[in-house]
Amino acid sequence: MMGGTFDPIHHGHLVAASEVAALFHLDEVVFVPTGQPWQKSHKTVSPAEDRYLMTVIATASNPQFSVSRIDIDRAGPTYTIDTLRDLRALNPDTDLFFITGADALSQIMPGWRNAEELFSLAHFIGVTRPGHDLSDDGLPKGGVSLVEVPALAISSSDCRERVAHGDPVWYLVPDGVVRYIDKRQLYRGQ
Ligand code: ATP
Ligand code: MG
Repeated sequence: MMGGTFDPIHHGHLVAASEVAALFHLDEVVFVPTGQPWQKSHKTVSPAEDRYLMTVIATASNPQFSVSRIDIDRAGPTYTIDTLRDLRALNPDTDLFFITGADALSQIMPGWRNAEELFSLAHFIGVTRPGHDLSDDGLPKGGVSLVEVPALAISSSDCRERVAHGDPVWYLVPDGVVRYIDKRQLYRGQ
């Protein structure tokens, strides 16, 4: 699974998922847009339904990719432990891999509750991101793999800023997502 705010989903997310799927011989990658993200609750995040639909649009053409509503349909803030417990309950005989940015992993790992249970539920994979050193400092041994993916200097924040300034996001996000942002007038006047 690949968790994220996906506000909006961009080619950095998609390349990371594709690369990890190939390296770890994953059968599929389920993108899981967060509900109200607790790390970002101070910021305004687009409606979950918009983030969900953009993620569906971006992944629709890949038979290995799908999108889950488990986090956006659960009331309250999203905690990784709930996501993994729910995925485990839905897929009792499946090996779960949790894909996220290495920066996100090392930043949030100390604040994660139930670290031991987390590692019993899934193998954690931190992917590299331009501008962030790949380092396993502070990461628990054994439960986490760090993976270098082709560098794409794209972030959702930058995409939102571009739209707000009237700059193009073509080729940073999938074509359908460009159209959806325009149709729903997302990120204007931010
Ligand atoms: P924002 O700029 O709003 O923080 P984001 O681009 O980081 O958004 P998220 O939805 O927060 O997007 O990201 C989900 C995960 O994908 C995070 O763990 C993040 O580190 C990772 N990620 C985001 N962009 C890239 C990228 N270009 N390359 C590799 N990983 C990425
Ligand atoms: Mg981020």
